[in-house]
Amino acid sequence: MSKSYDLHTHSIHSDGTDTVEELIIRAKEKKLSGLSITDHDTISAYEEALPLAQKQGLLLLPGVEISTVCKGESVHLLAYSFSLQDKKFQTLMKSLQKIRKDRNLEILKRLEAHGMPLDLHKLKEDIGVIGRPHIANALLALGHVKSMREAFDRWIGEEKPCYASGARLEIKKVIEKLHEAHAYAIIAHPHLIRNPALEEQLIDMPIDGLEVHYANFNIEDEKKWKKLADQRGWLKTGGSDYHGKSKAHIELGASYTKEETFQILWERYQKNEQLSRTQ
Ligand code: AMP
Ligand code: FE
Ligand code: FE
Ligand code: ZN
Repeated sequence: MSKSYDLHTHSIHSDGTDTVEELIIRAKEKKLSGLSITDHDTISAYEEALPLAQKQGLLLLPGVEISTVCKGESVHLLAYSFSLQDKKFQTLMKSLQKIRKDRNLEILKRLEAHGMPLDLHKLKEDIGVIGRPHIANALLALGHVKSMREAFDRWIGEEKPCYASGARLEIKKVIEKLHEAHAYAIIAHPHLIRNPALEEQLIDMPIDGLEVHYANFNIEDEKKWKKLADQRGWLKTGGSDYHGKSKAHIELGASYTKEETFQILWERYQKNEQLSRTQ
C-alpha cells in the first residue's frame, strides 16, 4: 500500500473540533504515515503534538495556514517545513495573531452595533486562535441565527454587514518571510479562487507549490491545477482540510500528499531543524 500524508488539518488550536491527541489517534486509525496540523495563523498545537506523534510513529511535518490578502481578496497560504524554533517565524505568528485578534474585536463591535453583543473571552477556551466559526457558534447558541450558515450568509461572511477583514498581510510579504525561514509557501485550495485577475496575479507569485489534492476538488479542477504545477515545476501537495465535527462530511485523510512530495518537504524540515540548532 502506498503511503499517504494528510497535510491540511485543523485542531482545537484554531477552528477544528479535535484535540491534538484526538487528531493524532485518528491519523493512526486512518493509517496515515504522516500529518501536518495547519491551524489558522498558529503553530501552538505542536508543543503537544510533537511528543504524541513520535510516540505513535507518525511523521509530523510543521505547517500552518496563513490568512493573507491579494488584490483585496482573501488568500490562504500553507507554509511547511519551517523549524518550530525559528524566532523570526515565531514573530510572524505573533503578528498574525494580533491582526486576527484586532479583526475579531472589530467584528464583535459591529455585531454589538446590530444588537448582538458577544464576549470575546467566552467564544472559545483559551487555546490557540479564535476564528469566525467560533463567532458563528456563539450567535447560534444565543439564538441570533438558526444555523452556522445563516451566521455567515447574514452577518459575518465576506461583504456582510458585520464582517471586518482586518489588516491582513499582503501575500507577497508573507511569502518573503516564509522564504527567509526556508519554509515552503503553497497556495491552499486554489480552486476557491473565482476571480481570473486574482488567479493571474497569484500564479506569478514566487510560490513553491499548489494544494492540488483537496477534498472538495472536482476532477477537472484538480487536473487544471496539477498541469499548471507540472509546467512550473511546483510542488503538488494535498490535504483534506479536516475540521472535525464542524465539517463532518470531510474525513481525515480524504485527500493527501504523495510520498515523493512528502519526502521533499520532510528533508527541508530536517535541514531547517539542523540549521536552527547551530544558530
Ligand atoms: P477566519 O479565518 O476567522 O476568517 O474564519 C474563516 C473560516 O471560517 C474558514 O476557514 C472556514 O472554516 C469558515 N467559513 C468561512 N466561510 C464560511 C461559511 N460561509 N460557512 C461556514 N463556515 C465558513
Ligand atoms: Fe477553518
Ligand atoms: Fe483555508
Ligand atoms: Zn484549512
